[in-house]
Amino acid sequence: MIVDCHTHLINYQDEATDDLAGCLARMQATMRRNRVDVSMVLTSYKVTPGRPSTRAVVEATRHLPNIHVVAGLSWKTFCDEDVVELRGMLEAGEIKGLKLYPGYEPFYPADPKLEPAYRLAEEFDVPVMIHSGDTYSPTGKVKYSHPLNVDELAVDFPKVKFLICHLGNPWFRDCMEVVYKNDNVYTDISGLTLGDFSDRFEAYMRQQLKEMILWGVNPRKVLFGTDWPLATMESYLQFMDELKLPPKDKELMLWENAAALFKLDVQAAPLGLGSLLRRI
Ligand SMILES: [Zn+2]
Repeated sequence: MIVDCHTHLINYQDEATDDLAGCLARMQATMRRNRVDVSMVLTSYKVTPGRPSTRAVVEATRHLPNIHVVAGLSWKTFCDEDVVELRGMLEAGEIKGLKLYPGYEPFYPADPKLEPAYRLAEEFDVPVMIHSGDTYSPTGKVKYSHPLNVDELAVDFPKVKFLICHLGNPWFRDCMEVVYKNDNVYTDISGLTLGDFSDRFEAYMRQQLKEMILWGVNPRKVLFGTDWPLATMESYLQFMDELKLPPKDKELMLWENAAALFKLDVQAAPLGLGSLLRRI
């Protein structure tokens, strides 16, 4: 079983054009080719024709038992109506978590404006994913996306589970400490590269991840994710294959941790050939 905990259905080539159906078809083909059983789709903090709303993605994926939605929030426009809409989607089981984009938007995760979102996450016991580290766009401001900022949240909302996306890249040590120190903080390995890894960078990243686990981060708190379509699933699975960690830790990262964190009914997902091959 493989769960990709971090994907997007965004038309990055042309944000002015709606291509949700095309993005979804490409993602399904990529999942089949790579034997990825389940994907979590994270919606954006903005809505444009190429960046569909959470509602649009929920509707487009409703019939697909192996694709789940995590709702992207905008700090800038976050308001009471959002809380009402999110509550409805959480009650209906249409979304499995929330996602925030500090750095892309200029706010610190502990901004009191977002407290209603954290209260919702607590009430429905869904994780809050937080963009961290480098921004894909040079107009982002990375002081807001530093992984240390998640520590304050983790302490102030001890019942909410937070996930630091991208291992805090390049602040791996800071991410390591925040995940290690706080029982309620997780991290994912997505988005470390654009497209495919170069050999040298791949080796460097493997070393970082190995160090994190050796140093004491519980492998139950590290999730496999790609950031597809920005990174390829092919290169990420190769990255995992060549990672020198005990097979049981890799299994945790590849699907068990995500299944537990997002409370996925993995039995509902059609078992891909990948699961069978990997079990042999
Ligand atoms: Zn992403």
